[in-house]
Amino acid sequence: MDKSNKAKQIAKPNKKTQNKSAWLKFFYVGVEDEPFSENARRVLIINLFTIVGICFTLPLGIISLFTGRTTLGLCLVLIAVLYAMNHVFLRFSHNHSLSGSFVIYPLYALMIYLVYTGGMNGTGHVWIFCVPAVSLFLHGMKQGLIELGVFTAVLIIVMFFTDNHFSEFGHHETLPSRILFSFMVVIFLSGIYEYSMSRFNDELKKTTGKLKLLAYIDSLTELLNRRGMLQRLEAKEQEIIHLLLADVDFFKRINDQYGHDAGDYALTKIAEIIQTSLPEHGFAARWGGEEFLMALPEGSVQEANELAGLIRKRIENYEFSYEDQAFSVTLSVGVASTTSSVTLREAITLADSRLYLAKHSGRNQVCTG
Ligand code: GH3
Ligand code: MG
Ligand code: MG
Repeated sequence: MDKSNKAKQIAKPNKKTQNKSAWLKFFYVGVEDEPFSENARRVLIINLFTIVGICFTLPLGIISLFTGRTTLGLCLVLIAVLYAMNHVFLRFSHNHSLSGSFVIYPLYALMIYLVYTGGMNGTGHVWIFCVPAVSLFLHGMKQGLIELGVFTAVLIIVMFFTDNHFSEFGHHETLPSRILFSFMVVIFLSGIYEYSMSRFNDELKKTTGKLKLLAYIDSLTELLNRRGMLQRLEAKEQEIIHLLLADVDFFKRINDQYGHDAGDYALTKIAEIIQTSLPEHGFAARWGGEEFLMALPEGSVQEANELAGLIRKRIENYEFSYEDQAFSVTLSVGVASTTSSVTLREAITLADSRLYLAKHSGRNQVCTG
């Protein structure tokens, strides 16, 4: 195969992959957020249930119509149409909560109707066992269990206290109590499953949250780390941002003279001073070992320069004391801003070269260009 043919084959997704993604798109219709979120799971279940619902209710409805069971047939066909419309509704509204209710409430009504009439040849009750799983999936543990409680109460009334058509099919008289008992067992098992799933999801969310925090926060100073800072800066790339890049002067000497732990302590104190000096809209990161990057998305260049001077002064005047050892440190700062012609990356490089200039002009100073 020559190169151009090979390229064409790579560029064109094969039919199998296309079909697969079309199916996935179909089942994830109405998903707005990440595909693994709780909402996405609900939407997937709604869509799956909708399809399964249509596949069962429509043929059964048509058969019922042809066999003279007009009311049952119309109900089943109506539900199939409702489910199809629900899929379209979800596609355009993304309202999975309302869409879930469109699935579940007609289902309750249909199940009660099937139990009351006996359905086809007295088999209507077999369908009620899908109710617990769907209720708990779509409405969660609390609301799901309340609704199942109400459903069971209605079921008891219909099976034991109404003039239902159940007995007309020659079932054994113990069948209603058996149905009730097994239905409650299914509720119990589905409840346990849903409970363990939601516990697992909560734990997963908590762990993901912690891991995200660890990925974006510096563990020593609790400021943003480089990755976290870049992410926040990139989110504001369209705005004008003032950047203050600071580096501790002769920090190696602090480590050498007072020990690495004293150095760590100094870094956390410097971070604290930086954080408390920033205005509300500003944010800061530990950009490297003893380098800090501050960002001001609001205010003028002059305000940014003044803030750099203020932070430099505060650090210079602060008396660091670690295990009976007192020492002081100083900062050099380079300031630069993004503009319509200076990108974020260019502004960071500019701040870095101004920091370099501040170092070479004697340290403990701010270079604003
Ligand atoms: P300059 O004024 O030119 O910036 O001198 P400097 O000594 O600060 O610069 P240099 O880059 O030579 O040294 C930086 C030092 O910062 C070296 C490294 O041991 C120290 N450092 C980096 N990260 C940490 C840290 O997490 N804790 C401690 N204690 N020291 C750190
Ligand atoms: Mg340094
Ligand atoms: Mg440095």
